[in-house]
Amino acid sequence: MPHILIVEDEAAIADTLIFALQGDGHSTEWVTLGSAALEQQRQCPADLIILDIGLPDISGFETCRQLRRFSEVPVMFLSARDGEIDRVVGLEIGADDYVVKPFSPREVAARVRAILKRMAPRAEPLAAAPELFQVDTLRMQIHYRSQALSLTRHEFRLLQSLLEQPERVFSREQLLDAVGVAADAGYERSIDSHIKSLRAKLRAVTADAEPIQTHRGLGYSYSPSHS
Ligand code: CA
Repeated sequence: MPHILIVEDEAAIADTLIFALQGDGHSTEWVTLGSAALEQQRQCPADLIILDIGLPDISGFETCRQLRRFSEVPVMFLSARDGEIDRVVGLEIGADDYVVKPFSPREVAARVRAILKRMAPRAEPLAAAPELFQVDTLRMQIHYRSQALSLTRHEFRLLQSLLEQPERVFSREQLLDAVGVAADAGYERSIDSHIKSLRAKLRAVTADAEPIQTHRGLGYSYSPSHS
């Protein structure tokens, strides 16, 4: 039974989450402070943490930063406002998803299921993945379905980063980091144009596959099941 830690100072919101998650077959623990969440995760690690950003002691962002020093547990942020900056900051400090209040508890439960499914070890697709893509780091070359791709250095780094962590959603900033390009005003478009050209090269191998998935407002991921 997956165990979910809920960090939320508003009892009414915590109650609806507990109800929805327990109805979905999860066990839950509820704390109201960021410091209590860190303590709880050290003592009795949860499989996923739902983390409110506005907490009475330390913010959800700070809690997540401290959490990441000792835990890779999936984190879903709850935010009171829909700010693109929050979203980006959240993903940068290692959140896995982001929900804006008011939300439907059922939707949160569905997203929790999706994250846990993504995290679960899946022998078959992962075992199949290396056959689809072969990465030669030394020669900076990638084969897709046994065909060598003709990639620029940036495209190579981009695809390599995506392949290393299947299903992980990378923000554009994270991808820029991977490519080794300094962020500037045009950075988002530069990642988008590299992705566009990468996709064209992948489609030249197989027209009906879409290994690189777009997550609107968030970024990109590599999906073995779409390869
Ligand atoms: Ca709050």
